Amino acid sequence: MLGMQGTLIEVEASIGAGLPRTVLVGLPDTALYEARDRCRAAVAGAGLAWPSQLLTINLTPASLPKAGSHYDLAIVAAVLAASDVVPRSIAASSVLVGELGLDGRVREVRGVLPALLAARDAGFERAIVPAGQVTEAGLATGISIWGVSCLADLIEVLHGRPVLDPPAAAARAASPPDVYQPDLVDVRGQPEACWALEVAAAGGHHIFLHGAPGVGKSMLAQRLPTLLPDLTAEESLEVSAVHSLAGYSLNSGLMRRPPYSNPHHNASMAAMVGGGMRVARPGAISLAHRGVLFLDEAPEFSPRVLDALRTPLETGQITIARSAGQACYPARFQLVMAANPCQCGMLGVPGANCRCTPMSVRRYNERLSGPILDRIDIHHRLLPSLLVSSRISAGEPSAIVAARVAQARERQARRLAGSPWRLNGDVPGAQLRKLPEPQDMSLLDNAVRAGRLSARGIDKVLRIAWTLADLDGHDRVSKGNLAAALGLRQDSWRCAA
Ligand SMILES: [Zn+2]
Repeated sequence: MLGMQGTLIEVEASIGAGLPRTVLVGLPDTALYEARDRCRAAVAGAGLAWPSQLLTINLTPASLPKAGSHYDLAIVAAVLAASDVVPRSIAASSVLVGELGLDGRVREVRGVLPALLAARDAGFERAIVPAGQVTEAGLATGISIWGVSCLADLIEVLHGRPVLDPPAAAARAASPPDVYQPDLVDVRGQPEACWALEVAAAGGHHIFLHGAPGVGKSMLAQRLPTLLPDLTAEESLEVSAVHSLAGYSLNSGLMRRPPYSNPHHNASMAAMVGGGMRVARPGAISLAHRGVLFLDEAPEFSPRVLDALRTPLETGQITIARSAGQACYPARFQLVMAANPCQCGMLGVPGANCRCTPMSVRRYNERLSGPILDRIDIHHRLLPSLLVSSRISAGEPSAIVAARVAQARERQARRLAGSPWRLNGDVPGAQLRKLPEPQDMSLLDNAVRAGRLSARGIDKVLRIAWTLADLDGHDRVSKGNLAAALGLRQDSWRCAA
C-alpha cells in the first residue's frame, strides 16, 4: 500500500542448482528480508523441509521498494508450490496477506481491507487472510475469502480444502462491544455553546471554542460527531479503509458513523499528518476523515504541525513523500479547536486572578497563526455555566439535534445541487455572492464601516447566516440570521484575551 493505493506484488520462487541458500530479491527492506528466516522457521516448525538447494524468491515489480511483514504467507505459498508440497493452481490465482510467527501461527496485519479492495479491482476472485481478519476482509465484497490461522491451515487451503472460520473470530464479529456513547444531553448549563455546536454541525463549519479550563470544551467537541449524519456507503468504505491501514480492527464491520480524532498537543508531525520511518501510516487528520478533528489546547501544538493543516483544510487530502513515491491519504475533516484565554487559563474569568504577564498573554495569542484561524467560521467563548444563566438544565439529546442538522443539510444539498459543494462551510466567497442576497444587509454594512468586519469576514458571516436560515427552514437569509451569525463570528479568542 502506498497511501490508499494498493499495488499487487507477485511472489515467485525458484529452486535451482547451487549452494544451499535462500536469496530474496526485488527491493526488500530490512524487515522484509527477515521474512526469509521467519518463513523458514515456520516451515520447519510444521515438520516440512525447506529447499536444500539454491532458493530464489523474487518480488515483482522489482522497481517498487517493498516494506512490511505481510508478504510472509505469499512467500511460503510460493516456496511450498515450488517444492511440490502444494499444487500451484490455487496459490497462483490467490492474493495472500498475512505474517507468520516462528511457530507457524498466522498473525494479523494492518490494511487488509484496502489491500483486498485493490486485489478485487485487479481482478482477483480469491484471497487468503489471517483467520482473525476474515470479517474485515469480507467487507470487500466481490472476492471470496479463506481464513487461515496457522501454516497447516494454509497447506489445506492451497489444496483447495477451505478450513472453517475459527469460532472466536465469528463470535467477536457477532457481538460488537457495548461502549458508552457520549450524548449532547450530558452537557448541562451551556445552551449557547450547544447551539453553536449545532450550527457548526449543520453547515459543516469549523469551530473554535475558548474559555477557562473545565467549562466543557472537550465535552462539546466529543459530542459533535453525534450530531452528524451517518456516513454514506462510499464514505463508510473509505473511512474504514483508512482505519484498517492505521491498524484498527474492523471485526465489528464497516464504520458507519463519523469518526473522532483528538491528537495530543505533543503529537509529532508524522502522528498528525501521517508517515513514519519504515511503513507509512495515516495520521490523526486522516483518522478524522469524514468526521471531527479536535485539537485541545491548540496554542500548545507545534506551529509547524499546525501549519501542516493548511493544505488538507483546503484540499481534503494530504500527500507524504515516500521512497516508493507519493503516499496520499484522504483528510476531509471538521476542525474543532479549543484554547484557554491565556496560559494559566484565568484571564477574563470573573472572580479569578490571571497570573500571566501581558507579554506572555501576547505570546500565547500569537501561537495560533492567522491562516488557520482564518479557516474557522465560528468562534465561541464559553463562560462558566453559573454565569451564563439560571438555565442549568440538561441539554437536548443528540438524536433530536441531529434530526434538525440532517434537515438543514438536506436544504443545503438542494440549494447547492449542481455545484461541487454540499455544505455552507465549504462554499467559497464567489459562489456565496451568487445566492439570493439577504433581505437587509445594513447590519453588515455598519460592521464593515465600524471596522469590526473585514471583506473576508463578510463571507464567513454569510456562510453562517445561510446555515441559520437552513436550520430555520427558510430560503432566504433574514436580518435576524445575520445578527446571530455576526455574534458567532465576533467572539474572537484574541479579542477576549
Ligand atoms: Zn493567565
